[in-house]
Amino acid sequence: MSLDGTYEHDNIFAKILRGEMPAVRVYEDDHVFAFMDVFPQAKGHVLVIPKHSSARNILEEEPEKLSHLILGVQRMAKAVRAALNPDGVVVTQFNGAPAGQTVYHLHFHIIPRWEGVPMGRHASGGMADMDELKALAQQISAKIA
Ligand code: AMP
Repeated sequence: MSLDGTYEHDNIFAKILRGEMPAVRVYEDDHVFAFMDVFPQAKGHVLVIPKHSSARNILEEEPEKLSHLILGVQRMAKAVRAALNPDGVVVTQFNGAPAGQTVYHLHFHIIPRWEGVPMGRHASGGMADMDELKALAQQISAKIA
């Protein structure tokens, strides 16, 4: 899907927000929802999405919703750091299939990095162990300020 198009209400993240698909929740407030990526590029890979949005990408988002979203991203990045003590944290966001986007509900990736540990490839890794994801989600959510 290119940058042009319409928001599809049956995308995976919309289904997660409606409770029609499961997710390993890390954090939620009035504006954002954060959950574990099930095909993580590193241990502790978290996704942050706006709850009340039909923006497929950052170009389409309303400024106020984007403001809440980026504050949620920072909050989650801090919690990931506090919980997992990485050497670095990657924050990424893709717009349009040619840029690497595979789910068309605006989202940010938070990916902790450790010296000498290669990052997995985007959207091509194996599925994580659910118990391990739940344990990581608990560790991270315990550190949310
Ligand atoms: P993007 O390619 O930037 O659109 O990112 C979509 C991300 O969603 C990828 O990193 C996928 O691993 C992740 N993903 C896909 N389906 C699910 C799901 N059901 N629960 C959690 N993460 C998912």
